[in-house]
Amino acid sequence: MIHGTSAPVESVDWQTLLATSITDVRTLLERLELDTTLLEPGLAACAEFPLRVPEPYLARMQPGELNDPLLRQVLPVGEELQEQPGFILDPLGEQHSNARPGIIHKYHGRLLLIVSGGCAINCRYCFRRHFPYADNNLSSQEWEQALDYIRADSSISEVIYSGGDPLAANDKRLHWLTRRIAEIPHVRRLRVHTRLPVVIPQRVTDSLLEALCDTRLPVTMVLHCNHANELDQALAGAASQLRGAGMLLLNQAVLLKGVNDRLEDQIALSERLGDNGILPYYLHVLDHVRGAGHFHIDDQQAKELVGRMLTRLPGFLVPKLVREVAGRASKVPLPIELLED
Ligand SMILES: *Cc1c(COP(=O)(O)O)cnc(C)c1O
Ligand code: SF4
Repeated sequence: MIHGTSAPVESVDWQTLLATSITDVRTLLERLELDTTLLEPGLAACAEFPLRVPEPYLARMQPGELNDPLLRQVLPVGEELQEQPGFILDPLGEQHSNARPGIIHKYHGRLLLIVSGGCAINCRYCFRRHFPYADNNLSSQEWEQALDYIRADSSISEVIYSGGDPLAANDKRLHWLTRRIAEIPHVRRLRVHTRLPVVIPQRVTDSLLEALCDTRLPVTMVLHCNHANELDQALAGAASQLRGAGMLLLNQAVLLKGVNDRLEDQIALSERLGDNGILPYYLHVLDHVRGAGHFHIDDQQAKELVGRMLTRLPGFLVPKLVREVAGRASKVPLPIELLED
């Protein structure tokens, strides 16, 4: 149930689910029957980066289980406040690659459009934790300038909706933007990087499909699912709708200690993605952002983990292990350690 209503979560619209997310540590602990000693450090960590968990995501956690892999991603903990050498405020240097308001153009042929600064969930490991892009949208004049930028550079063949989370924008905005981009002849593809359908599967509606799939542009959606437990029945249904509309579905995950660093977790995630027609694309090693040090896995362990996945899964269900490095021309692949036990 959503607090303040008696409706079951499944039948509530996404805007309401977004607006009624849990943002208070005490409520989260109560709902999950967790120890109140977590409250004080939780509140301290929230002063740096607020708590935010939508109800449909909370519903997939197991009450009383502090090590629940979904809970670990959202629970503010005291460890976030411990300084860790090398974990800094802006590890990707993104504050300096804004070509225009709303645009991040770092790689050849493709650019990010920051369609919405908001997110439906606050992931504790996110590099965004220190500069949530202003939650207000671009002005219409700034949107026109962003479109001019794309129009003026014929090397741009792919536009990537990003954020925050681009699907926090409403369908009317997305429809308008998609149609305008489709008018630019050298743009061949549209991509959407989003975690919203994972945390609120109700975000996927006929109106969203129309907003994104109504033009000549082929659409790829890159979901962000870190653990098999996130891929429940509701998300499976949403994925099926997205594929039915003709989208290519990919997934990116972040490798996180205590969440998905065991071989069995990664295999279960890949298998479940595969069951639902979603291909694993990237497995990112953690950005070294201040406050996320307790999620860190060292590179050697990461390379061996993916090496073991290769021996257990079809090649197309093994993600590419990558790191984002400021100033490089693409994501940087990590060499895999193939271990044959
Ligand atoms: C990750 C990223 C992309 C997309 O890179 P792909 O390797 O094509 O998935 C594009 N622009 C920026 C700034 C990125 O961070
Ligand atoms: S940008 Fe993605 S990873 Fe970061 S808080 Fe938003 S949904 Fe989570």
